[in-house]
Amino acid sequence: MAGTPTEEEPLRATRAIVDLDAIAGNLRALKGLLPEQTRVMAVVKGNGYGHGAPWIARAALDAGASLLGVATVDEGSELRDAGIDAPTMILGSIDPIEAQRACRLGLEVSVADERLLRAVQDAARAPGMSGPIPVHLKVDTGLRRYGVLPDEAVDLALAIARDPLLRFASAFTHFASADQPQEPFTATQLERFAQAIEAMRSAGAPPEARHVANSAGILGGWSGDCEIARAGISLYGVPPSEEMSLPPGMRQAFRLESRVMRVIPIAAGDSVGYNRAFIAERPTSAMLIPIGYGDGYRRALAGTSWVGIEGRKAPLLGRVSMDQIVAEVPEGLTVRPGHRVVLAADDPASGAPSIHDLAGMMGTNAYETLVGFRRRIPRVYLRGGEYLPAGSWGEPGTDDG
Ligand SMILES: *Cc1c(COP(=O)(O)O)cnc(C)c1O
Repeated sequence: MAGTPTEEEPLRATRAIVDLDAIAGNLRALKGLLPEQTRVMAVVKGNGYGHGAPWIARAALDAGASLLGVATVDEGSELRDAGIDAPTMILGSIDPIEAQRACRLGLEVSVADERLLRAVQDAARAPGMSGPIPVHLKVDTGLRRYGVLPDEAVDLALAIARDPLLRFASAFTHFASADQPQEPFTATQLERFAQAIEAMRSAGAPPEARHVANSAGILGGWSGDCEIARAGISLYGVPPSEEMSLPPGMRQAFRLESRVMRVIPIAAGDSVGYNRAFIAERPTSAMLIPIGYGDGYRRALAGTSWVGIEGRKAPLLGRVSMDQIVAEVPEGLTVRPGHRVVLAADDPASGAPSIHDLAGMMGTNAYETLVGFRRRIPRVYLRGGEYLPAGSWGEPGTDDG
């Protein structure tokens, strides 16, 4: 194909490069950690953890994912607009008023109380709907977030199972601390979940499938014989916490790059950026890079972060602005406008910080760091070592665009 977006397409210099082969390889590696029959849900909420949900969904489905997970009806709608009709579960709560729209889009709702269940039952009876509609039951085994308490789960399970227009597609729970391998609470949650499932079975309302494991649950071996496992951050090649690592072969799909827009001579006594937060003690050279907090490159990174250039570390000088940062040119390096810089990568040879490095400097975790990169940063997609053209959702079976 002609050129690459990094070299020739009229794109903004700052762009996120998303390696879809990494996504596919990660999905296959995760499947390899699970029993043969366990289906993998690719969790693509938050615009695919900032990677671009339709692209990730397509790549994951092609690589063997069976279902998709989103957080909101709009996120599901975006997938449908992209022509993706795989089973898609809304993992969290929705307002009952959204139930009808969700069902019309073929999105599968997670219920945890009668109020939402009734709205789904009404939606199932709306003209033009053809049931049975899959419904999932979220059980709160200790996270104290969304879910029904185990004691009350059986009544809801029965209400779902007895409705001929509904299918009791799954019961599931979510771990609080599976990313802390030594935390015994995960086993407690599993036990509570197993008891709730047993109670549903005894009452004659067994779910078709069970699922408990997020990424940390899969990596930690907590998925057991569940029929489904839900992979989020690990699908993107990022470990859930710094206490966990990914098995060999899994790799980060996300890389953030830009280009030098101006080389700035700095004399001793010069200040850089707003409020003169940096004042040079000696003459040096700086470079302007077009990214800022308007892109999710947060202001908190001033004074601590750096960018990679030619494998070297270039520390930020002064404040992070909305659209620009300035970094010091490493000693002895000759930089010209157009020179490539790497802002985030899982690649020590790039000189750039990792996602976990950035997260640490921003006082947050890898999840918020990834999701925080705004849509203003164009995403470009690599598959088979080639860039896919913008606007194609990586249609299955085509790699020539
Ligand atoms: C976001 C989410 C996941 C994915 O979690 P990761 O830690 O990113 O794998 C799984 N299950 C539920 C219910 C979620 O909300």
